[in-house]
Amino acid sequence: MRETNKNLIRLSQGQLNLLETCPPKFQQIYLNQLSSLPNPETEDKQTWGSRFHLLMQQRELGLPIDSLLAKDQELAQSFQALLQAAPHILDQTAHQWREAEHSRTINFSNYLLTVIYDLLVADAHQAQIIDWKTYLKPQRKDKLAQNWQTRLYLYTLVETSQYLPEEISMTYWFVKLPTKPESHVFTYNTQQHQQTREDLHHLLHNLDIWLEESIDFVHNPDCEDQCPYSQELLAQKNLSPVYLTVD
Ligand code: SF4
Repeated sequence: MRETNKNLIRLSQGQLNLLETCPPKFQQIYLNQLSSLPNPETEDKQTWGSRFHLLMQQRELGLPIDSLLAKDQELAQSFQALLQAAPHILDQTAHQWREAEHSRTINFSNYLLTVIYDLLVADAHQAQIIDWKTYLKPQRKDKLAQNWQTRLYLYTLVETSQYLPEEISMTYWFVKLPTKPESHVFTYNTQQHQQTREDLHHLLHNLDIWLEESIDFVHNPDCEDQCPYSQELLAQKNLSPVYLTVD
């Protein structure tokens, strides 16, 4: 059974994505605390991505970045390409409030939903969330619009600020060379905000039920034919659950 309010479950956008697309895999990874072995190629990409994020954070903090750039030519080239493609975003002299790795949390139906903005830029009238994407191929914009990163990040900013939905936006910058940096910009409105609230409520209500009844999480009805997990999940079926990290 799920613990009471004093032990709230913390969820990120990645966990919401998995919960929505594949509840059994969510149960396996986050409740049974099982995960696949790391893929060296993915790990390497994550390391490059981490270096890029560190570079941008240090820059926002006013710390020296020359040594980071000197050690990594690809990093330096990507940074220069971004400076040329998006000077307005990186202009620290404008009269705006800015913070890198800015974290916010909301309590939604007794779940703690947490976001970390790579960069938040705001003034009296509007706020922009910036996210650095460090993999090679930009995702399709329509898919990114449905991703819980986009939806939760925008939703949380409205819920934790004075800005109206129409006054905020989210921009993904795809910064990995050799392609020129590209961006996808998502504006927001009151109707989308309401829809996200309803979808979150539905998703977390299902999670409540599965946790309270301590049952196997149900499969989505429309992905069985192309399921990448079916054999793996069957093999793990008899392991008993360990609950999510709680506060
Ligand atoms: S069919 Fe596969 S992908 Fe779909 S919910 Fe079940 S385990 Fe997940």
